[in-house]
Amino acid sequence: MSNKYVGAHTSAAGGVYNAIRNAEAIGAKAFALFTKNQRQWKAKPLDAETIDTFKRMLEESGILPKHVLPHDSYLINLGHPEDEKRQKSFDTFVDEVERCMQLGLDRLNFHPGSHLKKITEEQCMDYIADNMNRTLDRTEGVTLVLENTAGQGSNLGWKFEHLAYIIDRIEDKSRVGVCIDTCHMFTAGYDIRTRDAYDVSMAEFGNVIGFDYLRGMHLNDSKPGLGSHVDRHESIGKGKIGLEAFRFIMNDPRMDDIPLILETIDETIWAEEIRLLYSLEEE
Ligand SMILES: [Zn+2]
Ligand SMILES: [Zn+2]
Repeated sequence: MSNKYVGAHTSAAGGVYNAIRNAEAIGAKAFALFTKNQRQWKAKPLDAETIDTFKRMLEESGILPKHVLPHDSYLINLGHPEDEKRQKSFDTFVDEVERCMQLGLDRLNFHPGSHLKKITEEQCMDYIADNMNRTLDRTEGVTLVLENTAGQGSNLGWKFEHLAYIIDRIEDKSRVGVCIDTCHMFTAGYDIRTRDAYDVSMAEFGNVIGFDYLRGMHLNDSKPGLGSHVDRHESIGKGKIGLEAFRFIMNDPRMDDIPLILETIDETIWAEEIRLLYSLEEE
């Protein structure tokens, strides 16, 4: 039996439960979704019928809640330099966590934030940690999962040290986690293309952050090269990372029992990519 739970970020258009149907259709054992339109601030609350349908369909699918990795709205910036916009981000973020609670999900994946070149990295990360602590106070049962970024523009979270700095300031460490995006990791400068490079980069993750915090991964190849700080995903094995890195991941017990999510660019081949990833597992 494989201990790897591979899936994709499937569409929830027409209702959050459609993400489950779309995951099943491609043979996924995990999935990610937006619980609301990711490009809008406001969303109407989830109604009781939608929540019931989601829970029933998830149970029927055999996919466990811990293998579902919801992603928050791209508009949210918990480290926004302006008070009003940071507050708006916070309010929307709390709503996102509450939606996860309603759906019976136990984690929410988000990008740490951006300083927009108006405040220092430390100030921005202090704001992020503060907003995370306030969110944790108001909610329960959902772990806040920081995603590493490519470091494009003024996005923080591309260095493992950024994530460690934030985690260090979270009061309830049982409800903070990390999601490693392989494309972001690579374009941030952490090489994973060869056995040696993979071992070195993952050891660095282990030393700086720790695998106890790993709550999910995004499996993406990369169009841009190592350390480019440009975030452009590519299909598995077709980009600058190449297939070997994914073989290392599929055979690394540190990635057992967490959602491994494709966010690759061609969703018509997701079923194929999932099969390809499982074929890399060695007995
Ligand atoms: Zn993301
Ligand atoms: Zn990602």
